[in-house]
Amino acid sequence: MSALTVEIEAAGYGPATVLRDVRFEVPDGGRLVVLGANGAGKTTVLRTISGLCDAVGSVRLGETELLGLPPYRVAGAGIAHVPQGRGTFGDLTVRENLLVGGATRPRREAVAAADRWMERFPRLGERSGRPASGLSGGEQQLLAIARAFMSAPRMLLLDEPSLGLAPKITTDLFATLDELGRETGTAMLLVEQNAEVALGIAEDAVVISSGRITVRGRADELRDNDDVRRAYLGV
Ligand code: ATP
Repeated sequence: MSALTVEIEAAGYGPATVLRDVRFEVPDGGRLVVLGANGAGKTTVLRTISGLCDAVGSVRLGETELLGLPPYRVAGAGIAHVPQGRGTFGDLTVRENLLVGGATRPRREAVAAADRWMERFPRLGERSGRPASGLSGGEQQLLAIARAFMSAPRMLLLDEPSLGLAPKITTDLFATLDELGRETGTAMLLVEQNAEVALGIAEDAVVISSGRITVRGRADELRDNDDVRRAYLGV
């Protein structure tokens, strides 16, 4: 069964239409990566799903129609969105950031879940009482991801998680995402500039150019596609 069914006829910002005819599905527990040049519309796909854009069409999580819902109800339906730039709160402590992610759960449950995530990622646990602004880029991305998992989502949206991270940190981060996906069965929709690592953990991929899907296929097929290799894999 599909976790997410996206049938966007048009989407954008007020009169500015960015996406046209963007359709894809992500199966339960599956992973799809969205590739594309700067400004192609990748972020807009995620923002449309989260209820942050004007859109015509349908976006369903399981049987639930999400288009037209305000962002907090999209989150409540089971979507967690890690935005570009991570979106952690620098003035709040690591622990407080996690608790924000669990705000829709009963307090006691959220506290226990925050403790579990800090055990899972000792680098966060060691810094639990410190402001998030003091974390390294990789640690902040880990915090953003752990915070997203605090809501026990069915589907995780990740916008360029590798942005600004060193290659080794990026490799480790994707290995962690891969592990978390397997452990929790959470489906993932990833937007990435770093096609090599993203295609490595996804089953399916689409390429967006000027707001339309121009290539789609299995991730390993796209890795062997000459156009994709030239444009996104630096070959
Ligand atoms: P990047 O990798 O640079 O983030 P992207 O593929 O994610 O690029 P989007 O951020 O989705 O691209 O932007 C797609 C188009 O939408 C761009 O032409 C951009 O100028 C336009 N756009 C983005 N945000 C807005 C906004 N708030 N209002 C109007 N137009 C916008």
